[in-house]
Amino acid sequence: MKKGLLIVVSGPSGTGKGTICKELLQIQKNIGLSISATTRNPREGEVDGKNYFFVDKDFFEKEISQDGFLEYAKVFDHYYGTPKKYVIDQINDGNNVLLEIDVQGALQVKKKYPEAVLLFILPPSMKELKNRIIGRGTESQKDIEKRFSSAIEEIQYVKEYDYYIVNDEVKKAVDRIINIITAHKYKVTKDIEKIISKFKEECSC
Ligand code: 5GP
Repeated sequence: MKKGLLIVVSGPSGTGKGTICKELLQIQKNIGLSISATTRNPREGEVDGKNYFFVDKDFFEKEISQDGFLEYAKVFDHYYGTPKKYVIDQINDGNNVLLEIDVQGALQVKKKYPEAVLLFILPPSMKELKNRIIGRGTESQKDIEKRFSSAIEEIQYVKEYDYYIVNDEVKKAVDRIINIITAHKYKVTKDIEKIISKFKEECSC
């Protein structure tokens, strides 16, 4: 069976990657979202098991010691990690999985699973990014400054990704991602050997 595609989406806080991912999942029913575990507190309206699995530090560190994460990282003083079993099972069953994770995590995934497709969401400008972080109204002034100053550092990592998408408009950004995923399905990989073998077998009939 052909394996599912592992799609990794990153980008600085405020680029709108959450909105883009939500929109993408609504349109592309053949993509499932991996729900991360985190030690940060839920924001208003966030639901355990839907937005994240909200866990404590001890639980998270136990999972690390038992190799329970495909990747994990400390982001803004809290742990975030991708539960390994769910993702691997889905991929092996031929299902596509989306991870919305930070750059440290994405680089770990790339190392462990090079077939993953890494997408980086960029804001149209830094001014727009700051407006979006402030406009969200969920962070303190200190957190806003922290997220904004780490954004420019994160942007340097776009070099490590397979594709970049500028989020000037959500619909356009989502369309670009769908086009990239479609093209990526037909990328020549080592699986091509199976197709060549099939054609060789057919020659003899
Ligand atoms: P937030 O606290 O705003 O939900 O997320 C903060 C950052 O953590 C975002 O960049 C988000 O993509 C990232 N993040 C969320 N889940 C994971 C995860 O499982 N692993 C890693 N490495 N980063 C994550």
